[in-house]
Amino acid sequence: MSYQAFVIKYGEIGLKGKNRHLFEDALVHNITANLKNVDGEFRVDREQGRVYVEALSEFDYEGALEALQRVFGIVEICPAVLTEDNGFDQLSDEILSYLDETYSDKNFTFKVLAKRGRKNYPMNSQEINMELGGRILDRFPEMKVDVHTPEKEIHVEIREKISFYSEKFKGLGGMPVGTNGKAMLLLSGGIDSPVAGYMIAKRGVSIDATYFHAPPYTSERAKQKVVDLAKIVARYSGPIRLHVINFTDIQLAIYEKCPHDELTIIMRRYMMYLAEHFAREDGDMGLVTGESIGQVASQTMQSLYCTNEAATMPVFRPLIGFDKQEIIDRSLQIGTYETSILPFEDCCTIFVAKHPVTKPRLDVIKKSEQNLNEVIDDLMKQAIETAETILVEAEDVR
Ligand code: ATP
Ligand code: MG
Repeated sequence: MSYQAFVIKYGEIGLKGKNRHLFEDALVHNITANLKNVDGEFRVDREQGRVYVEALSEFDYEGALEALQRVFGIVEICPAVLTEDNGFDQLSDEILSYLDETYSDKNFTFKVLAKRGRKNYPMNSQEINMELGGRILDRFPEMKVDVHTPEKEIHVEIREKISFYSEKFKGLGGMPVGTNGKAMLLLSGGIDSPVAGYMIAKRGVSIDATYFHAPPYTSERAKQKVVDLAKIVARYSGPIRLHVINFTDIQLAIYEKCPHDELTIIMRRYMMYLAEHFAREDGDMGLVTGESIGQVASQTMQSLYCTNEAATMPVFRPLIGFDKQEIIDRSLQIGTYETSILPFEDCCTIFVAKHPVTKPRLDVIKKSEQNLNEVIDDLMKQAIETAETILVEAEDVR
């Protein structure tokens, strides 16, 4: 069976009034954007709690399905047949030929689930269920009705458009990106932060990003790796404004003037200040990191306490309760893992101490930071002025 359309179902819980419009507008917008890279011409529109994607030309079915499976807010994707209202007899004939073409083996149980969203249709839902069920049994005696746990649900939806479908694919769930404001992701080349970006975007938050690099200690390829990761995250989140910040001089100053076992924490605190500067510029309402409690020395409760204090915006840590393996599984699922494990140097590993403090005290850290008083304002200013901003769009994945 070659489908020409998809019926898109989305979660409606808690969607009322104006929110519902925002949700639906963003969903239609994001679906359209994700289909841009797929071969074919599509029309995306919505009607009474459904979004319809209709192919207006030959199209890449697998590609379209994959693109839809990357849009947050979609709960279910049903390849469907859209048809005109030419009376019930013709509709049932179309459904019978559809079933015949789609299932060469008809030894399965089924149930017809009709929904009449338009009251001027001459039969109600229950009448359609009974009549169509009967015609299916007459035509395909191998098929059996099971109203409780059918193997196939044959849906018929009578709205302004008439559609029918019996196959479904799970969507990602979540909320359409763009419906919940914007946040600044601290994006490194590691496994965790790209997943953190994905998780925050899943709740409808658009993302900007900052990456701290330390040339010549970190290479162009390490930076390219971060851009590549952003391209993958952008498949789900939409375009990302990535600020690449030169962190070398700040790191060198910290290395020179502060106790080495406190380097990582102090560095992290300056990352927070700088990320927040760009967050404010971009209109973001929070920072996002890939931290998870206890994962490494810089992520103990005491360390997180010290890092957090440097920020005035809320800091969101979507992975806070994840085990490393859970984060890896998610990164494999979203496609960032292979890029994350490429072995390029990271600015934090270069200046890292052999024995970092695991229980830093904020008063001690702040005292050490005073050693930077004479230089830090200039260095921060310089880091801000020399930052490079790249607009990263989803790469063409097919
Ligand atoms: P990741 O896998 O995301 O690199 P990690 O396990 O290596 O995380 P850390 O190095 O402690 O953990 O970093 C904690 C968080 O700080 C990261 O998840 C990221 O949000 C932020 N971060 C660390 N290094 C950088 C960097 N060079 N640029 C931007 N953000 C960074
Ligand atoms: Mg890292």
